[in-house]
Amino acid sequence: MVPYDIAVVGGGPAGLSAALGAAKAGGSVILLEKDEGIGQNVRTSGVTWIHEIEKLGIGKDHYNPIRNFSFVSNSNSVTIKGVAPRACVLNVRSAYQHLAMLAAEAGAEIRVRSKVTNATILPDRKMCRLRSRTPKGEIELDCRTIIDASGFNSLIARSMGLVKEWGRYGIGAEYECYCENLDLDTWVLMVGSKYSDSGYAWIFPVSRNRARIGVGVGRPESRSDPVEKLNEILVGRPHPLDQMGKIQPIEFHRGFIPNEGPRTPMVYDRLILVGDSAGQSNPLVLEGIRYAIEYGRIAGEIAMKSVSQNCNKDILFGYERMWRQKNQASITSAQRVQKRWVNLSDEEWNSEIDILREMSIDEFIDFIKAEFGICKLVKFGLNHPKVAYRQLLGLIKNP
Ligand SMILES: Cc1cc2nc3c(=O)[nH]c(=O)nc-3n(C[C@H](O)[C@H](O)[C@H](O)COP(=O)(O)OP(=O)(O)OC[C@H]3O[C@@H](n4cnc5c(N)ncnc54)[C@H](O)[C@@H]3O)c2cc1C
Repeated sequence: MVPYDIAVVGGGPAGLSAALGAAKAGGSVILLEKDEGIGQNVRTSGVTWIHEIEKLGIGKDHYNPIRNFSFVSNSNSVTIKGVAPRACVLNVRSAYQHLAMLAAEAGAEIRVRSKVTNATILPDRKMCRLRSRTPKGEIELDCRTIIDASGFNSLIARSMGLVKEWGRYGIGAEYECYCENLDLDTWVLMVGSKYSDSGYAWIFPVSRNRARIGVGVGRPESRSDPVEKLNEILVGRPHPLDQMGKIQPIEFHRGFIPNEGPRTPMVYDRLILVGDSAGQSNPLVLEGIRYAIEYGRIAGEIAMKSVSQNCNKDILFGYERMWRQKNQASITSAQRVQKRWVNLSDEEWNSEIDILREMSIDEFIDFIKAEFGICKLVKFGLNHPKVAYRQLLGLIKNP
């Protein structure tokens, strides 16, 4: 059996991008995905940012552009309006299949219906072995380095005993629905007990008359079931669902997302974690797709560089250093704001909406994207001298 240079476990955005990065760097690459097709089981709402996602090669054929951002609480609301669309809602299946096509074109071998059941480093520590359940039966394959892109379960790292289950995480449930009345330009986040007891609900327009409507809850703060709450709001129709006319679910999605910051470390001997497996998402609004794609590609390239230099471990650690340098500070700040949000009462949410109301569109977008550069923070502080903003700034600034 000829070993692969790189085996990628998981065909989500992180794994597909890692396969692309490694194949482009000249490696022999195999990607194993347990589902029947890439993007078949949607586990995300697919909101992201146009500039970033286009830079990563996902063009306008794969998304619905969003210009306006609404926040609704039990008895307050604000819509922050933009001139040009800055955000978008992905057609998740087509976007992920596009990533798969890029990886295949670069030379990666992609196997669907192939669930990885076990991973080990062989005793000579020169090779890793994966076991996978496929339509052709149980197979084993060897590789020099594994990229664990298995998502929330961090399957490989956990099966090797390197990491534990996540303690803080979000669970989301959504229906993709026909909606009689839908504002295609505006996404809506709904906060407070009417919508979710520890998290938020959303309306994300996908295309004409079609939106993802969902509810997320945070563990351990809440033990409630987001599916129950989702069904409840579709019947009770709190604002703005009351304005949408007929709503008919046509597809159900459910997923888990880690919410305690990145794994430490993200890199081991012959193993890299990427995407949700590494906890790389922005905890403020649990946004992980663009990070998964960007750092998936980098993980693939760096893994291949390490393989070509006798599986040099220090090269792999370069990936983790790069991630931390670029993202650690803003993710830590976003975590603090998120912790504040999780604990707000309904009345406090009503006031929080007033804080958002005074933000310009640029400030709001920087805030929600967790882009808290020092110049932006100084400007923000000068523009908003009120106490409420100073409190928010205090959380965002690093200690
Ligand atoms: C409800 C919800 C809503 C979200 N909304 C957004 C949003 O609007 N915007 C945003 O940016 N992010 C959002 N996220 C987060 C985002 O979905 C993730 O950060 C992103 O999907 C991470 O990509 P990934 O490739 O690491 O993991 P995943 O997308 O989870 O992909 C992992 C893949 O590994 C496969 N796999 C797992 N185990 C095995 C195995 N044993 N063998 C083979 N294959 C395996 C899975 O089938 C899957 O295809 C949301 C998450 C949830 C749960």
